[in-house]
Amino acid sequence: LIRFDNVTKRFGDNTVLDNLCFSVQTGKHVTLIGPSGSGKTTILRLLMTLMKPDEGVIRVNGGQLFPAGEKEVREVRKNIGMVFQQFNLFPNMNVLRNVTEAPMRVLGMPKDEAAERAKGLLDLVGLSDKHDVKPTQLSGGQQQRVAIARALAMRPQVLLLDEVTSALDPELVAGVLDVLRDIARTTDITMLCVTHEMNFARDISDDVLMFDAGRVIESGSPEKIFNDPEHERTREFLGAVL
Ligand code: ATP
Repeated sequence: LIRFDNVTKRFGDNTVLDNLCFSVQTGKHVTLIGPSGSGKTTILRLLMTLMKPDEGVIRVNGGQLFPAGEKEVREVRKNIGMVFQQFNLFPNMNVLRNVTEAPMRVLGMPKDEAAERAKGLLDLVGLSDKHDVKPTQLSGGQQQRVAIARALAMRPQVLLLDEVTSALDPELVAGVLDVLRDIARTTDITMLCVTHEMNFARDISDDVLMFDAGRVIESGSPEKIFNDPEHERTREFLGAVL
């Protein structure tokens, strides 16, 4: 479960999240859509504890991320993985090592076990023949698939996806989305995605949250939001992007 209660985040005079309330049930796949600057990425950054809100309560799976002490934050944070728009792979490590590094270092997993798991995950993302190459030798789409495998290697209960296809050449987008669809279908991981890919949102989501000016203005199944939106602002937004 991810739950925001009355979360406010300001940058100077700019109130980016305004008493925001929403929740994502365990195992659900939820997509945040909305205009640029509406605060979607800020939500993911709060969950990654890359920043703190000014007010409110953020809960994840029975623990609290805010307000919370350092120890609790570390515990809760362990269950959250993230894939970024820019893949952020370790450039000096080969693909396999990129995936084994955190489980070994952070979870203390033995090398053989980490490698075994990494190989399984690299199979899952279609990169079983790339274990030994460096990230720079891969296409953007392949790098992003390594980043997905790397996030899953930590066995997160929650996976955050921040516009994971927007830095990719158009012909590479489909491969990455296919992998994510598979993961959504075959695991019980809770997913919270920010995306401009409306087809992906439609496909993968149990629920879509439409954001505007720091609030959820409408939420519902993809069918409801895309085919029969209630809010004028949602209609306007979808009219512009679809
Ligand atoms: P996009 O779809 O373009 O990525 P978004 O909905 O994800 O937009 P955010 O990235 O969450 O929007 O940004 C929301 C607002 O917060 C923007 O006005 C942005 O300028 C501001 N903002 C974000 N991070 C910071 C920061 N570190 N310092 C100051 N302002 C920031």
